[in-house]
Amino acid sequence: MKIAIAGSGALGCGFGYHLQKGGADVTLLDNWEQHINTIKEEGLTISVNGDKDNQKMTICKPHELKEKMDVIFVFTKSMGLNAMMESIEHIIGPNTKVVCLLNGLGHLKTLEKYIDRKNIIMGTTVWTAGIDAPGHTHFNGQGPVEIQNSDPSEKEATLEIVEMLQKSGLNGVYSENVNYTTWRKACVNGTMNALCTLLDANIEEVFQTSEIDSMLTRIIKEFAIVAKHQDNVILDVDETITYLKGVAAKVGAHYPSMHQDLKNNRPTEIDYLNGEVAEASKKLGLEAPYCQQITDLIHAKETILGIT
Ligand code: NAD
Repeated sequence: MKIAIAGSGALGCGFGYHLQKGGADVTLLDNWEQHINTIKEEGLTISVNGDKDNQKMTICKPHELKEKMDVIFVFTKSMGLNAMMESIEHIIGPNTKVVCLLNGLGHLKTLEKYIDRKNIIMGTTVWTAGIDAPGHTHFNGQGPVEIQNSDPSEKEATLEIVEMLQKSGLNGVYSENVNYTTWRKACVNGTMNALCTLLDANIEEVFQTSEIDSMLTRIIKEFAIVAKHQDNVILDVDETITYLKGVAAKVGAHYPSMHQDLKNNRPTEIDYLNGEVAEASKKLGLEAPYCQQITDLIHAKETILGIT
C-alpha cells in the first residue's frame, strides 16, 4: 500500500516509521528544510517508548512526490491543514483515502473542500510524540488509533486501514461513533491544554487545584451544547469530567502540547478547540463566554510572545 504522511513532524514521523515497519511503502512529506535534510542524510532517529532506533525513510517536499497515493495521513497542525491539502491535491486519486487524526474540531469541513466525502476517514489517537531536534523524534504510548469512514459505503476500505494500523503496532480500532470520540478528545485538549498553558503548570498541578471542578464544568458545559446542536453528540458533563480526571491521573506531571508550542514560540491550536466552540456558539445564536475568554487569553499570550 502506497502511503504518504502529509506533515511529518512529531506524530507524522512516528506513524510513518511504524507503517513502514509494518510493510507499507511510506513517503514522508514536509516543508521543514532542516528536518528533511537530516532525515535524508542520517535517516529518522526515533525513540519509541524509550527504545531508540534509526530508520532510513523517503522524505521530500509535497510538490516533489508525483504518484497518486492509496492512503494519505494528514499530520499538520490544525492551522496548516488547508495549505497542506492544497499542496497535495496532485497525489490524490479518485480512490485515495485521506485519514485525519488531528486534534481539534472542524477539520471535516476543510477536507471536504479538496476531496470527496466518501474518501475522508476521521479519527483520533492517544499516542503522544515530540521533536527533540530536526530528524530526531520520540513517540510514546500504546494507542489506540480510532478511525471511521465519513461515508457509510466506505467501511470495508476503512477496515483495511485498521488492519494495516494493527499490523504496524499502532493499535488501530474501528470506531462506531468517531464524532463522539472527536468531541471527547476536544474536551481533553480544550481543558488540559488551555488551562496548563494559561497557568504555566503541568496537568497534575492543575488538577490538584481546588478550582478544577468549577473550571472544568464551565468549559465542558459550553462544549456539550455545541456538540449536541452541531453534531448531535451527547456529552454528559459529569461523566466527561470523571473521564478527564481519569486521563489526568494517568498522564500526571506532563505539559500538554499547547504549553510546549508557546515555549517553542509556535502558534497554538486554540482556534480549533475553545475558539471553535465560541465561534460555533455564536452561529447558533448562543454564547460561550468561558471558551471565548480562554481563546482571547491564549491569543494575547501569543501576541506578547511575538508569535504570529
Ligand atoms: P508538529 O508540530 O510536530 O508537526 C506539525 C508540522 O510542523 C510538521 O510539518 C512539522 O515538520 C512542522 N514543524 C514542527 N516543528 C517545526 C519547526 N521547529 N520548524 C519548522 N516546522 C516545524 O505537530 P504534531 O505534534 O505532530 O501534531 C500534529 C497534529 O496531531 C496536531 O493536530 C496535534 O494536535 C495532533 N496530536 C499530536 C499529538 C502529540 O503528542 N504530538 C498527540 C495527538 C494528536
